[in-house]
Amino acid sequence: MSKVKIAINGYGTIGKRIGDAVTAQNDMEIAGVVKTRPTFEANVAVDRGFDIYASSSDKTGAFNKAGIETSGTLEELLDKADLVVDCTPGGVGASYKKLYEKYGVKAIWQGGEDHEVAGFSFNSEANYNDAIGRDFTRVVSCNTTGLTRALFPLDQTYGIKKSRVTLMRRAADPGNIKSGPINAIIPNPISLPSHHGPDVNSILPHIEIATVAVKLSTTIMHFHALNVEMNKDFEPDDIIDLYASRPRIRFVSGDQNIKSTAEVMELARDLGRSRCDMFENVIWKDSISKYHGELYFFQAIHQESDVVPENIDAIRAMCELESDGAKSIEETNRTMGISK
Ligand code: NAD
Repeated sequence: MSKVKIAINGYGTIGKRIGDAVTAQNDMEIAGVVKTRPTFEANVAVDRGFDIYASSSDKTGAFNKAGIETSGTLEELLDKADLVVDCTPGGVGASYKKLYEKYGVKAIWQGGEDHEVAGFSFNSEANYNDAIGRDFTRVVSCNTTGLTRALFPLDQTYGIKKSRVTLMRRAADPGNIKSGPINAIIPNPISLPSHHGPDVNSILPHIEIATVAVKLSTTIMHFHALNVEMNKDFEPDDIIDLYASRPRIRFVSGDQNIKSTAEVMELARDLGRSRCDMFENVIWKDSISKYHGELYFFQAIHQESDVVPENIDAIRAMCELESDGAKSIEETNRTMGISK
């Protein structure tokens, strides 16, 4: 069977990870990656063996000058590709929609775009079947992916009456020197609740959820404190068993001396993960508690990588490479080294 040809438009934090994840699959391959400028990441793409395309013809001169060979422009790449994964900065991706339509190429956008750009928001476990054969899909943001992975199994099993989440957000990605704060806590946004709850509703519309968010002086991970009221009674051990059965949840505990996001990242390094990525939701097992009949726990989310396996599953569903979501998740996890 010939492999599905994937274009990546925007080769930054998310784009380069999706490039590697696509390469690890047996049923898809990279047709080329699009860069605006010949930065070090263009050289990373060349080292990976990817063909480089300039975002527009007026940009090719800069690549030639830097000694980086281009294979054409974005439009030429779209002509060859079956599906484009748009990994341009939030808000930019929507401006490419007309071009993707012109070339009749399927498209995936990331969480920086509004739900409306694709008209469908995706999470592998919650709605794989609804993505099958679709032309356009949006893989929700890192925080929304993390929240959906945590809430969907609870709702399936116990029914969620109400959920409230405090999100402590990283200020910027580690390679970003332009954003802060360096020494402050920023309510983000000040007006409440935050947009994260409605974003979860773009996948799970019936769940009652309220979220607040603050930005902290850290770059490595987001951190969530969840409180969930459910329709059926539970014990903490039941929740541990439920999450243990889910494919993209990893437990850590204070007993193992993992008491912070820094130690979670150290664990990712020790696991030998490329770029020290942690694709799973990281839940502190010993935080899972029942208090006044409600569930409480902490989880950490690696913003740079948790959406990457979801992009691979979205490609499989949209290109009808696999009709069973559980099998796609299993294959993506196997090829990306995601195991318990
Ligand atoms: P990034 O800034 O790291 O990478 C964006 C890339 O797109 C860069 O290489 C940039 O040069 C390129 N680019 C800029 N303008 C372009 C244009 N007009 N055409 C083509 N390429 C262009 O951004 P990112 O963090 O990878 O984010 C990409 C998307 O993923 C956004 O929607 C973002 O919200 C979402 N997302 C980001 C994270 C995260 O934490 N970084 C997590 C989940 C989802």
